[in-house]
Amino acid sequence: MTFSRILYVPFDHLNENFGSLKNANPKTDVIALIESQRMLTGRPWHKERLFFLVSSTRHFAEGLKSKGFTVRYLKAATTIDGLKAVRAEFGELPVECAEPSSFRQFNDLSAFGVQFVENDFFLTSRSLFTSWAEKQKSYLMENFYRGQRQRLNILMKDGKPVGERWNYDAENRLPPPKNYEWPEYLEHDRDDIDLEVAKELGHIPTKTWATTREGALRQLENFIKNHLNGFGPYEDAIAKDNWALHHSLLSPYLNNGLLHASEVVERVVKAFDQGKAPIESVEAFVRQVIGWREYINGMYWFLGEEYRNQNHLGANRNLLPLFSDSTKTEMNCVKSVVADVEVRAWAHHIPRLMVLSNLALITGVNPQEFLDWMREQFIDAADWVMVPNIIGMGVHADGGKMMTKPYAAGGAYLNRMTQSCKGCKYDPKLRVGENACPFTTLYWDFLDRHKDVFVKNHRMSQQVNGLKRLSDLPELKVRAQEVLEGLSAGTV
Ligand SMILES: Cc1cc2nc3c(=O)[nH]c(=O)nc-3n(C[C@H](O)[C@H](O)[C@H](O)COP(=O)(O)OP(=O)(O)OC[C@H]3O[C@@H](n4cnc5c(N)ncnc54)[C@H](O)[C@@H]3O)c2cc1C
Repeated sequence: MTFSRILYVPFDHLNENFGSLKNANPKTDVIALIESQRMLTGRPWHKERLFFLVSSTRHFAEGLKSKGFTVRYLKAATTIDGLKAVRAEFGELPVECAEPSSFRQFNDLSAFGVQFVENDFFLTSRSLFTSWAEKQKSYLMENFYRGQRQRLNILMKDGKPVGERWNYDAENRLPPPKNYEWPEYLEHDRDDIDLEVAKELGHIPTKTWATTREGALRQLENFIKNHLNGFGPYEDAIAKDNWALHHSLLSPYLNNGLLHASEVVERVVKAFDQGKAPIESVEAFVRQVIGWREYINGMYWFLGEEYRNQNHLGANRNLLPLFSDSTKTEMNCVKSVVADVEVRAWAHHIPRLMVLSNLALITGVNPQEFLDWMREQFIDAADWVMVPNIIGMGVHADGGKMMTKPYAAGGAYLNRMTQSCKGCKYDPKLRVGENACPFTTLYWDFLDRHKDVFVKNHRMSQQVNGLKRLSDLPELKVRAQEVLEGLSAGTV
């Protein structure tokens, strides 16, 4: 057979209906998937994450073969080396790929002469997002989201939002419920491909993550049936007796292509139309997918390659030992979140934002070190999604370009939204003394350290002015130093 194109499919474009495969023809196209050494060993990746990515891709490659495609799944030092090997076998054919999801891959593939087709794994093209962003004074997600609802005609009636409101946050954001019966976790059985990958990686995988489209669809149906109803009210809570709450656990599949945002949103809206879930949960979920997810991807490309290196608050503390080892802290909330991540490479958005990032922010951990750690640990991490979420939202290292104020919070917030404070060595109400909650002490210390910057920010000035009421500020500053030293030593 003579072929006319090589279609390169990265590990996050695993979908036959989108990207370069959309117009694939078994008679003219060779499909290349490359497991690069750089991807496997370039960083100390969480093995659950590697397992998920590699196994999903091997399953996908097998599926393409069974449909009559000529597929090359190669192991190579780098992606480019792999593509060279495919060319060596099939001739100097043009290589096509959908626009890749990171600046680095974009640059590497461009330099090799790869031709790109539009990345339609998102609902918003990069050019469309840029034309929105260029018209904004500040890049408010809420404004972008309302535009998305109208443009995509989702949850709209006669030009107005269904239910007459754009936002149901007031009904949501409840603390974790007591004596609540959570649905059982959905588990995914492992097949021969999974076991082979697990063996190669020296890893015993959990049964949390599916590695096929069928499994991803099961996860979607499980969400609709058991979780959509309760998604909104508890979306910000952290419970002691359940690590997933009513979150969908769909981000890994949305990000590697096994599911597409359009089908997920359609399914959720269908459940709403059938009267199976209330508007406050349906709207909250739709907001995440057509709002936050699209906004974050758009901002990654809009803000540019250098954005990841920002460090406006001059945060230079080394990564705290507790991030890599949950036994290196006595703070219950942090210990349990890091322990969860150790097991299954996942925690929902509030542990990511208000526990892990909040801690990195108020302790002044270097943003790039923290970004690297988050990028390595999470099942759904990718450059496009981690860079804005960490640099912009998590640790405010961009000086407020993306979010108007830092997400800094003390122990009172954690006491309200988690069930970790009861039984913890530290008391969220105390800011000084040996039993003071490190979050409470460091929250005030953080505000004090950056008061000159934050006092100019009208959304922060009230918090900064609160410093004036602290009669024990000198004592608090001393305690903050002790806490910071203890955190760096892994003893707090
Ligand atoms: C500091 C920080 C880091 C994050 N890092 C990642 C990451 O590396 N990869 C990732 O996919 N998400 C990331 N998120 C967003 C969010 O935490 C995860 O998408 C979510 O926890 C995944 O679980 P879920 O599928 O059950 O989500 P659900 O709560 O069920 O939400 C539904 C979907 O909304 C999308 N979504 C919601 N918020 C965001 C967001 N801020 N950015 C992108 N997508 C969003 C996801 O696709 C998610 O699957 C991060 C958020 C924060 C605050």
